[in-house]
Amino acid sequence: MGTFPLSAAGPRVREVIRHETARRRSLRLLSREPLTDTLVRFTFGGDLEGFTSLGPEDHVKAFFPVAHGMVGRDWTPSEFRPVGASSGPELDLDLVVHGDAGPATAWASRATPGDQLEIGGPRGSRLAPSGFGNALLVADATGMPALRRWIRALAGVTPVHAVLFGDDESLPGYLDGTEGLAATPQVASAPRYDLLEVLQAQDVTADTFVWAAGEANALIPVRRWLRRELGLPKEHLSLHGYWKQGVAGLDHHAPLDPSDPE
Ligand SMILES: Cc1cc2nc3c(=O)[nH]c(=O)nc-3n(C[C@H](O)[C@H](O)[C@H](O)COP(=O)(O)OP(=O)(O)OC[C@H]3O[C@@H](n4cnc5c(N)ncnc54)[C@H](O)[C@@H]3O)c2cc1C
Repeated sequence: MGTFPLSAAGPRVREVIRHETARRRSLRLLSREPLTDTLVRFTFGGDLEGFTSLGPEDHVKAFFPVAHGMVGRDWTPSEFRPVGASSGPELDLDLVVHGDAGPATAWASRATPGDQLEIGGPRGSRLAPSGFGNALLVADATGMPALRRWIRALAGVTPVHAVLFGDDESLPGYLDGTEGLAATPQVASAPRYDLLEVLQAQDVTADTFVWAAGEANALIPVRRWLRRELGLPKEHLSLHGYWKQGVAGLDHHAPLDPSDPE
């Protein structure tokens, strides 16, 4: 997706850019390629004229027909090529295929080249901040496309460490060839899977920016540790439940920790 801009608004401020072209687009699946045990890359062509995604946390909404109408699910634009191998614009979405439990994964588990998908967005882009001493990025499989965009956005500007978590032990391979990490990613995966313990071994200081995305319940203790124990100001944190065990269509705008909805 070329270069990812940093906020020019000033140290530690994250500029928000609204996009005029946030309309519904009809895409055609060109190919699918497995990336890790759970992540599959879906490459789309079609109506991508003017597609813009500038921020590492950007998301598109994909729409799926269900009995009572349409539902939307959020995905991160992983790569956009104005002219790709198909000679037209191409968008990559890297998706966790987790069986048949929801409309998005049901679509992804069956989709074959030629299938259509309707998307909207990104409606806006929140740029990466500048001015932090270092950054800690935390993600499970669903957050990996955004995590890779964060690494690229901060490369050469802010030293970045990454912690990956969840059941997919092959996740580090997703970052092969991605330059900009200060060290090999740490992994909290099955059967050990103690995310907090792995994070507490990281060098988090008063000058650290922390971004995290993944299963919401796993991130609640992380937020409590960062906010209550370490006392990091909320401007230093960008923590997002991207899905929640047992909840369909999680509203990611709702507070991550319902007991502390700040
Ligand atoms: C801003 C944002 C960006 C995102 N980017 C990506 C992305 O790039 N790639 C990606 O794969 N996902 C991404 N997600 C997560 C994705 O939107 C959710 O996983 C979504 O719930 C999938 O919808 P579904 O229809 O498959 O399942 P739903 O109908 O939402 O849920 C059905 C059941 O499946 C479970 N479930 C949902 N997701 C998972 C999962 N990953 N693993 C296991 N069980 C699950 C739920 O707990 C529920 O029990 C993103 C989410 C947000 C908010």
